Amino acid sequence: VGRWSTTTLPYGVVRWGGRPPRPATAVGDDALDLAGLARDGLFDGVLDDPLGTLEHPTLDRFLAAGPSAWGGIRARLLELVHDAGAADRLAPHLRPLDEVSPVLAWTVADYADFYSSREHATNVSRIFRPDDPSLPAAWDHLPIGYHGRAGTVVVSGTPITRPTGLRRDPATGEITSGPSLHLDVEVELGWVVGVGSDLGTTVPTTAFADHVVGAVLVNDWSARDLQAFEYRPLGPFLAKSFATSVSPWIVPLDALADARVAPPAPPHPPAHHLAPAGDGYAVRFELELAPGGSASTVLSRPDAAGLRWTPAQQLAHLASNGASLRTGDLYASGTVSGATREERGSLLELTWGWTDPVMLVDGTRRRDGLADGDEVTIGASIVAADGEPIPLGEVVGRVVPTGTRGHLPPQ
Ligand code: CA
Repeated sequence: VGRWSTTTLPYGVVRWGGRPPRPATAVGDDALDLAGLARDGLFDGVLDDPLGTLEHPTLDRFLAAGPSAWGGIRARLLELVHDAGAADRLAPHLRPLDEVSPVLAWTVADYADFYSSREHATNVSRIFRPDDPSLPAAWDHLPIGYHGRAGTVVVSGTPITRPTGLRRDPATGEITSGPSLHLDVEVELGWVVGVGSDLGTTVPTTAFADHVVGAVLVNDWSARDLQAFEYRPLGPFLAKSFATSVSPWIVPLDALADARVAPPAPPHPPAHHLAPAGDGYAVRFELELAPGGSASTVLSRPDAAGLRWTPAQQLAHLASNGASLRTGDLYASGTVSGATREERGSLLELTWGWTDPVMLVDGTRRRDGLADGDEVTIGASIVAADGEPIPLGEVVGRVVPTGTRGHLPPQ
């Protein structure tokens, strides 16, 4: 079977053999060159200008081409991959995934991050406000979010430099600056917009599939000590903008059909623009941590099935004030956490506010967040209708010390 099933057929961009990056899909343990297939005429009649759309160092043109082009390419690929007679035509365009380097597959336009997990929001409230752990007043009425920094969205494998910044010592009140002392991860499900919308118009939840091409796995790296000092009243700024990692392969919406679930029943009727809710997605994550050179420990297994707000609601909300969508927009769910310790999607929650260390298989512990050299892997899968797990890839990042990539040294 390999790393990818023969039905997921994700979209990515890879480099191989010194050639410019080119769009590809992944099947089993191979990358399949979509530009090469277009050049051979295998997408003729499927979309207007196959070569112009696909012979490009990003997926941007493909994303902008819209649902009929996405559906056409996917249908053709499914046909080719499952036709034994087509093997000869595909063979020249296959390369082992181990021999290609994925690059960021598209130009990230705008980036927004939500806060859609009730369990995550509740855990954060209980950790920081144990005397009054109620959720923010708006939380059950709209998908709370903020606008992040699109230019620092990086592809899986990009080293993550420990950020520096200001923080307040909770015990002494002293304000100091330096490398973050509580560097954290957030397990999230992200969505990529292909087709934009006009400024001044809105997007109904029912138009989700007209705009969104598919899903990526997201690690929203977070410097908790910097975040705690800077976030009032405008939300996270530098504590999250230093890097956001995404998986290299965009999983098409159609490949997630078996994962669709009804979202949890809302406590009250939704606002007009948030109805109908659309589908939730049962994406099962696995969060792993491997200290430099050591074996990896599975820290948790969150599941996106229980998220309060669906991706259709998140998208509709994003545009509900008339803000336009652009090709390449990325938006993410917010940290995915569940009811048990084994389903917590951040170290803040796993250590319960840096008090309860996480034990690793190499015998070391993490109480205060990530150490330099730690490699974090977020993998995910869904379960097919026949009960088989279908992998969705992974997003990986290793923490490198402040200063190793030319940063200013801490004061
Ligand atoms: Ca986040």
